[in-house]
Amino acid sequence: MSSKRIKEKRRRPGSVSIAFQISFEQLVGLFLIILLGNVVYAALFVVAVVYNAVMTVGSDMSRFGNARIVFEGGEAFWQFVRSAAVVVPNGSGGETHVPAGNFAVFLLVSLASLLAVEFVALTVACVLIPDRTYKRLTPLFSITEAAQALKNIDITDSKLTEDGEQLEIHTGKEELAGIEDAVNDLLRRTISSYRSQIRFVSDASHELRTPIAVIRGYADMLERWGSEDKEILSESISSIKSEAENMSRLVENLLFLARGDSGRAVLRFETLDMNALVCDIYNEFVMIDKTHTFSLDLRIDARAYADPSLMKQCLRILADNAVKYSPEDTEIILRLREYDGSHFAVEVQDRGIGIKPEEAGKIFDRFYRSDPARNRRSGGYGLGLSIAKWIADKHSGFFEVLSYENLGTRISLILPYAGEEKAPENGGSEEKE
Ligand code: ATP
Ligand code: MG
Repeated sequence: MSSKRIKEKRRRPGSVSIAFQISFEQLVGLFLIILLGNVVYAALFVVAVVYNAVMTVGSDMSRFGNARIVFEGGEAFWQFVRSAAVVVPNGSGGETHVPAGNFAVFLLVSLASLLAVEFVALTVACVLIPDRTYKRLTPLFSITEAAQALKNIDITDSKLTEDGEQLEIHTGKEELAGIEDAVNDLLRRTISSYRSQIRFVSDASHELRTPIAVIRGYADMLERWGSEDKEILSESISSIKSEAENMSRLVENLLFLARGDSGRAVLRFETLDMNALVCDIYNEFVMIDKTHTFSLDLRIDARAYADPSLMKQCLRILADNAVKYSPEDTEIILRLREYDGSHFAVEVQDRGIGIKPEEAGKIFDRFYRSDPARNRRSGGYGLGLSIAKWIADKHSGFFEVLSYENLGTRISLILPYAGEEKAPENGGSEEKE
């Protein structure tokens, strides 16, 4: 698309054309320079004529200041011009009139010729300057063109890679690199967030399909035989109940993540005694899970600036995984230790099935479950760790995973000590929904 076509296309009320502005300024500048040139020329010419008259009368330069130009009259214009004279005081107290008519005529004619040439030059400039300006602005037009072309792109097209490399805008102009980077970055993030939304919705629907199918199956069974067969009746009721619970857990988790994504979740930060929190989780799990041995390993006293209920939820997710993915009668350790001068680690360590090295990077992805995890029928949708990661992010924290297949896993949540954290991402003043 040429620069002109873009120029024609993009006219918004109130918007000003940069090319027009630049051209206008250049033309006004040129006009002022020409005007000044003419004035300087005329002034120098007059000075020269007066100087010449003073020299004609006598070589006393003190008379220069008292000399004046007069027009001695004449009815017609040229007669009037020709009557020009320089009046110079002479030594004997009188004045000498030195005729300067020819000079005046020359000045006027030369000025008129100059003006005519300048007029032609300005007219040519009026055509050339805007054209040159538009050419100079071509990179801007090409970036506009590229940005306009983006609206026709189908970001669902599977040929597009997630980094949007095929769409990148590149004009090769150094000054535009910043805009290009910003647009390209925005583009990449749009594609990636669009895709993850699609994936999220499709994964969520997929996960909901199973419990719905189970509920429907049992409802059909109840309809056919349930009223007569007490066994079928009680099996159906308990399965429907358990699937409904699963579904409600899934929906809760989805809502949590959706609220987080939309920025509607508001956190209430306070200085939190992490030792007490880890003890709470320990007591909770000792009570609800009799199949594992839990140990506490509190090596430090740590306080975090955190939302208590979210932090508890995060640790529950880690402990819940340790329980789910380790055999009965194995030990699960809840640990609090120093990490570096400004951070500490809360760890949950198990002696379970472990995580394959190639899977370690994926376990925080939404709906990700490793095959052994799926095969264990331990329930779950692969959302726990993505929720934990969201919580960690909001607390300026991060995770470290150390795992060996069939040996066990240690997941560490690294958090800044209270007072060391960066400002939380939201003010944390409002109620959590
Ligand atoms: P949910 O937490 O939604 O009930 P989930 O436990 O499968 O389901 P996440 O907590 O997100 O989901 O964990 C994702 C996957 O990471 C698990 O399916 C499992 O494969 C792996 N994983 C997490 N923690 C452990 C662990 N302690 N030992 C072995 N594998 C683990
Ligand atoms: Mg889990």
